[in-house]
Amino acid sequence: MDTKQVVNIDQVKQINMAAVYRLIDKLGPISRVQIAQSSQLAGASITKITRQLLEAGLIAEVSQQQSTGGRRATSLMSRPHFRLATVRLGRGILDLAMYDLTGQVHQKESHTLGAQTQEQLLPELIDYIGTFLEKQHKNKPIALALTLSGLVSPSNGFVIYAPYYELKQCPLGQILEQQFKLPTYVGNDTRAMALAEHYFGQSVDISDSVLVSVHHGTSAGIIIDGQVFMHRNRDLAEIGHIQVDPLGERCHCGNIGCLETICSNPALLARARKLLSQGSISKLKPTDSIEVLYQLAAQADELCEMLVRQAARALGKTLASVVNLLNPQVILISGEICLAQAIVFEEIHKSISHQALSSFAQQLEIRAAHYQNNPTVGGLALIKRAMLNGELLMQIIEQHSH
Ligand SMILES: [Zn+2]
Repeated sequence: MDTKQVVNIDQVKQINMAAVYRLIDKLGPISRVQIAQSSQLAGASITKITRQLLEAGLIAEVSQQQSTGGRRATSLMSRPHFRLATVRLGRGILDLAMYDLTGQVHQKESHTLGAQTQEQLLPELIDYIGTFLEKQHKNKPIALALTLSGLVSPSNGFVIYAPYYELKQCPLGQILEQQFKLPTYVGNDTRAMALAEHYFGQSVDISDSVLVSVHHGTSAGIIIDGQVFMHRNRDLAEIGHIQVDPLGERCHCGNIGCLETICSNPALLARARKLLSQGSISKLKPTDSIEVLYQLAAQADELCEMLVRQAARALGKTLASVVNLLNPQVILISGEICLAQAIVFEEIHKSISHQALSSFAQQLEIRAAHYQNNPTVGGLALIKRAMLNGELLMQIIEQHSH
């Protein structure tokens, strides 16, 4: 027998449970008969699964008037009241937020971090998360998720490399799970944000999309068929290190002329300051922030507009290759770069229409991401995914039955 056909019985349980939960979550209130019709599972299986979900408090029964009038039928709905603890580890900043499953925020806070190495970071991180969790004594969260900029093995929360804190081969997911005794998910922040846009933001009901984040670096998250596109244990979509200028500047990765050396906030500010020091005329001052640079570009300040168009062209050139490879329906752009959205999207569209297959380019839409200043929502998406694919459902039901 082909070993690929051998499916673990727990996996079958998880797949069926997830299928039932997804239907209830998406279509509820929904009756058991309707679940049977949509899922093609046997009535007995549905009775068993819904009983387990009810006992664990994951769904609730509601009485509903049937459309034909007459007797009331019992339907099922998901219960979104569960608290989900999310953490975004940024560059010198830690954001924490407590959500429920509808995406509503119940509490949030931010802290600056002094840590610069793995040894300094871990105690500081555990301290802040621990204090945050202690405040939730009445509403203990069902899971914890952390997102960060770096390469992460998503199946086990193993951080392969995160440059800012010099994290290397760090089993962060395991450390947090043991510390806080909660199912824990750790993921790359841009990949998680792409998923958040798909669940709650600008790419709901769109099966294939790419989120491009332009901040300190330039990175992407790819959604294919409603799932984050990734390898089992290796990261991908590091578009910031695709070469766009063979004669360009050296990138921190060691190569020359990567997209990030042209289209990232620090690169843009550095170019602007260099030109200002050489006597270029602009309303921009050397001490101004990236927001001011993009705002001035949108107001047709010549220097700022030239720099932003140049960056957007480089981004568009890279995205043209992405379009040829993946043919997404939508590309979402996140970051302060959206403050100059009109000229940025114009340049991206131009590059894509020149360099991508015309049938792909014509159907493509470019939109600003919905979540521009909400870094913890990526963690929420990681937990939501674990609910919808059954992984977390199984853990909650198991805890409940002990
Ligand atoms: Zn690079």
